[in-house]
Amino acid sequence: MAAESSVLVEKRRVEYRNLATRKWLNRCQSERMPFDWTINPYRGCEFGCKYCYARYTHDFLERHDPAAFETEIYAKDFSATDFRDELKSVKAGQIVAIGTATDPYQPAERRFLSTQNVLEAMTGLRGVSLCLTTKSSLVSRDAPLFLALAEHNRVHVTVTVTTMNRPLARLTEPYAPSPEMRMGAVAKLAEAGVSVGVMASPILPLITDSEENLLAVARAAKAAGAKQFGAYVVFLQPTAQRVFFPFLAEHFPQHLARYRRSFRDDAYLNGSYPEKMRSLVQDIRQQVGLLARDLDIATPPSPPPEQMVLF
Ligand code: SF4
Repeated sequence: MAAESSVLVEKRRVEYRNLATRKWLNRCQSERMPFDWTINPYRGCEFGCKYCYARYTHDFLERHDPAAFETEIYAKDFSATDFRDELKSVKAGQIVAIGTATDPYQPAERRFLSTQNVLEAMTGLRGVSLCLTTKSSLVSRDAPLFLALAEHNRVHVTVTVTTMNRPLARLTEPYAPSPEMRMGAVAKLAEAGVSVGVMASPILPLITDSEENLLAVARAAKAAGAKQFGAYVVFLQPTAQRVFFPFLAEHFPQHLARYRRSFRDDAYLNGSYPEKMRSLVQDIRQQVGLLARDLDIATPPSPPPEQMVLF
């Protein structure tokens, strides 16, 4: 379907294509993700974060160049009638996550409104938990929709901010809105009455894992009106490594060998480091006065301690 899709719009760096889509709702099978369903209105993401784990999703479109993930963006064809039919499978008490493999408010959303269409169709749901994660300040546009959804469902909006250090964010997340803009969106959502949290994920070992960095994000989140704060350590599958390791070689060459060793056998870091980070994040939450998201409490169990790694 991807090969046959037509070019919708071309911008200087990014090409938009349409993607015929049979199903918008995906049953979540991963034990690491505490969701029942996921929805990704786009394929690819032009924010181009260097650590992005979702680049593998373009492999399914037979686009094996990991850079294509951020330059060939697919907007899924939307039919409100068909989508509402699909939503009949979602039961009260289940969790639906939007934006697990793409940013639902990346620039394409201004043009195609796919995420807005999805949210509007979901206002018919009752008793469902809806989680949406984004790095985009555009999310505040849909505050009225989140409030409408929250009348009959639980709504968690999460804005991701990995650092308040603007030059560092520009390096690691080159086309995403600045940390200040994202916190501005948090403030707008909070002022409107939307329950909003901030995640500093992924934590990049040796780059964004200092207490100073995470504390700065948590304090800015608190000042903006966020209720929750959390952060997880980065995981790097082979497709992500193909982008992240050259990035390290260019900007953080002193860390490259350590990353290579630590992620050689597993996309996830095991052992004491993730536990240390969990504990640090918990301390920061207490220090600043923020809560964990309910979902974070249901995170996967810690890996076995014998699998020690360098970080
Ligand atoms: S915003 Fe999310 S989906 Fe988009 S490039 Fe960054 S990590 Fe990947």
